[in-house]
Amino acid sequence: MSTIQSPRGLGVFLLLPILMAAFCYYTLNQLSSHSPIRNRNIALLIAHPDDEAMFFSPTIQSLVDPSLKNTVQIVCFSIGNAEGIGNIRETELLASADLLGVPNATQSVLIYDEPGLPDSMTQAWPEDLVASVISESLKDLREENNGSKVDTFITFDKGGVSSHPNHISLLRGAKYYLRHYPVHHEILLYTLDTVPIYRKYLSIFDAFITTLLERKSDDTLQGEGEEGYSGNGAPKSAMYLSNWQAYRTAQRAMTEGHKSQMVWFRWGWITLSRYMVFNNLVLDTDRS
Ligand SMILES: [Zn+2]
Repeated sequence: MSTIQSPRGLGVFLLLPILMAAFCYYTLNQLSSHSPIRNRNIALLIAHPDDEAMFFSPTIQSLVDPSLKNTVQIVCFSIGNAEGIGNIRETELLASADLLGVPNATQSVLIYDEPGLPDSMTQAWPEDLVASVISESLKDLREENNGSKVDTFITFDKGGVSSHPNHISLLRGAKYYLRHYPVHHEILLYTLDTVPIYRKYLSIFDAFITTLLERKSDDTLQGEGEEGYSGNGAPKSAMYLSNWQAYRTAQRAMTEGHKSQMVWFRWGWITLSRYMVFNNLVLDTDRS
């Protein structure tokens, strides 16, 4: 068993909180600038009711800030019927979206129940069918948004946070849509980064790691356009770090919104997961 036996050891021990505080300051300083995603009509593409709360709550709660002048709408591609309680989960999604601050959740959240897009841990969804649902949903979202077209997609990346095939199918479907459907304006595609499992449960501390890694890649990248922006002026990435209140709201979106999903192991997720408190979105310009 190791103990602190020397003044030098004690000094290192006392230094740790100071270093942590410095990390905190550095990270918050990095994230303190206003959201780079603003004045956008955003469609968040999720696979199951509860994805918005378990994975995207820092993003949603930030982007709905009225000062950013975004509209945030959610398209859910299944009712989460793997256990036969899809009708309950639909209602829970609306309650969760409401808690997370999505305005007019009953109109801003579209939930689909396509036989070809089942809630399944083993089944990938056909990308052309996902794209077809995207196309249908965009018409409805436009109507709900006084004729304004969606110009930004946010969804999972190729890792799907948990390698869930339904999550990953959304990225493929979004790219299929952007490749094959006539889009008369540019739609930006942002994806939520998947981190290795040893970083998933670091809560806020993964914000420090992500910030440091991001800074390192910024230093080495020879990007086109202004620093942090792509050639067309779109932000290359966006980080959202929740404050205590937003973190607690995200937890309530699960405990009060998605009550049917609060089995024992979800308590670990809503307490320790970095996705409950921190999101890093990355602009994806690859359409293949
Ligand atoms: Zn999911």
